[in-house]
Amino acid sequence: MNYKEIEDHLWAKGIKPTANRILVMRELLKASRPISLADLELLFGHTLDKASIFRVLELFAEKEVVHVIEDGSRSLKYELCHGSSHHSISDQHVHFVCEQCKEIFCLEDIQVPILELPEGFLPHSVNHVIKGICPNCIAQKLH
Ligand SMILES: [Zn+2]
Ligand SMILES: [Zn+2]
Repeated sequence: MNYKEIEDHLWAKGIKPTANRILVMRELLKASRPISLADLELLFGHTLDKASIFRVLELFAEKEVVHVIEDGSRSLKYELCHGSSHHSISDQHVHFVCEQCKEIFCLEDIQVPILELPEGFLPHSVNHVIKGICPNCIAQKLH
């Protein structure tokens, strides 16, 4: 996405594209895995303060620009929603957290399973995080 496309994308989500929002959006686009507020703060080299970044993330979550992932660590992770039109459970994928290196992986090809809920419950998002050991750590163990 170029600058113009980011602007259009934000407008489409009902968000006024301010400088900060565009900056955060750019970092989210560059990230290959879900990132936390602390990660973003580091990426910005403290040129953008934590509170400002947080406000943008909150807005993005509310307007469904990002998915929020609770991986069991103390910090939430954010990743762009790659769903084509609507933000829905079917465009969420499974995440894997390595208990050894604490890295979080996107298993993009595995959709979160959709469970049959009792009548009257309307699901909005699902957090599906699998914990274990990643291939890198397994390889290291064998050496
Ligand atoms: Zn690992
Ligand atoms: Zn992901």
